[in-house]
Amino acid sequence: PQASVVDPAGELARRAAVMAAAQEKYYEQPPQIERGWRELLIDTRGRSYVDMVNNVAVIGHSHPRFSRAVGDQLRLLNTNSRFLYSALADLCERIVAKSPDPGLDTVLLVNSGSEAVDLALRLARIHTGRGGVVALREGYHGWTMASDAVSTSAFDNPHAVASRPDWVHIIDAPNSYRGRHRGAAAAADYAADLAHLLADPDGPGGDLAAFISEPVLGNAGGVVPPEGYLGLVYEQIRAHGGLCIADEVQVGYGRLGSHFWGSAQQGVVPDIITVAKAMGNGYPLGAVLTRRDIAESLAREGNFFSSAGGSPVSCVAGLAVLDVIRDESLQENADAVGRHLAGRLALLAERHPLIGMVHGMGLYLGVELVRDRDSLEPATSETTAICERMLELGVIVQPTSERQNVLKIKPPLCLSRESADFFVDRLDEVLQDGW
Ligand code: PMP
Repeated sequence: PQASVVDPAGELARRAAVMAAAQEKYYEQPPQIERGWRELLIDTRGRSYVDMVNNVAVIGHSHPRFSRAVGDQLRLLNTNSRFLYSALADLCERIVAKSPDPGLDTVLLVNSGSEAVDLALRLARIHTGRGGVVALREGYHGWTMASDAVSTSAFDNPHAVASRPDWVHIIDAPNSYRGRHRGAAAAADYAADLAHLLADPDGPGGDLAAFISEPVLGNAGGVVPPEGYLGLVYEQIRAHGGLCIADEVQVGYGRLGSHFWGSAQQGVVPDIITVAKAMGNGYPLGAVLTRRDIAESLAREGNFFSSAGGSPVSCVAGLAVLDVIRDESLQENADAVGRHLAGRLALLAERHPLIGMVHGMGLYLGVELVRDRDSLEPATSETTAICERMLELGVIVQPTSERQNVLKIKPPLCLSRESADFFVDRLDEVLQDGW
């Protein structure tokens, strides 16, 4: 199919007329992308860009095996889980087979990360009969009422923490690079923040239902919590009768390279895992993986049904993704290319003082830009300008974190070493311009 070439200013005006201003737009002048292939995006002029951001297209853009499987199923049947078709149980079995713990043996299928988080919070509340939820500052968990309530990532909203509903309790993100606690005792110190909250009369007290976090802090820029932190948190949450939810929407599904799940990488077993994005490679698909006793609690509130969740097409999409991750060794590629990339970025940091820190692992990395390595003053405007310049040079990379000063790197897991080098070489070039 031919993409229609549009006048950029006219197209932006057309969007502005019918879309809410809050709907995010990236770049001053977004490129007109016509097609994708592996980690490349190709615009209407035939120019290609290395896509360092799309963590949804985990097996790569326009994967033929995926397109064929989804197209074939779409032509055959798409309905809902009222009927019997093998792809539904097949997909649930395959997810359970990937489970980080035999106790996590039950799957609920939905259509997005927001829905998965919403359902996870609801499950925790029904199961415990309580309402309070502890979440980390700077986290993003979705746009629905409940998933938004536990999200405080909005960098331009100074009231993000204070404006949470009463049942949400926010503690500092365990960032040992720039947070309140740094150094060897950071894990224990951040865990002590939780202890204080749990003892605080304004905290959740006896009404604690759950703790939710990304196991590696994706939205903060791939920040890895200090070793042992999540274990200390889970212990306390459980001692107070709460459940532990790991939001693996960004960092799970093999992206970290060494482990399929971020929680496994952090050495913890959650009670509930949420997954989406990568799971459908762009086809809307999300899931909650939990223990049977927790899932069965839903029955107390009646049936659970999602019209498109678990449809034959979504299940076939989910199966094709898992097949490709396995057959093309994409988790292994994330590990190898991720190490190569992190190594090259570390070398770049030796020559460019603007790079304060390289966070992350596998193919979830964050290059944090600072104006001063002592004060850690965030280089926010520089980060935006660098992303615009990188676009001109053929690389898609964007800012993240509460301060918008981290280049987020979460490309398709098929990223080649050559594309990784292309990205680093362009970044090197851009940083030489002096900022
Ligand atoms: N959780 C995390 C960690 C996310 O990054 C996101 C999306 N950025 C969501 C949940 C929500 O997922 P979705 O956009 O599919 O609703």
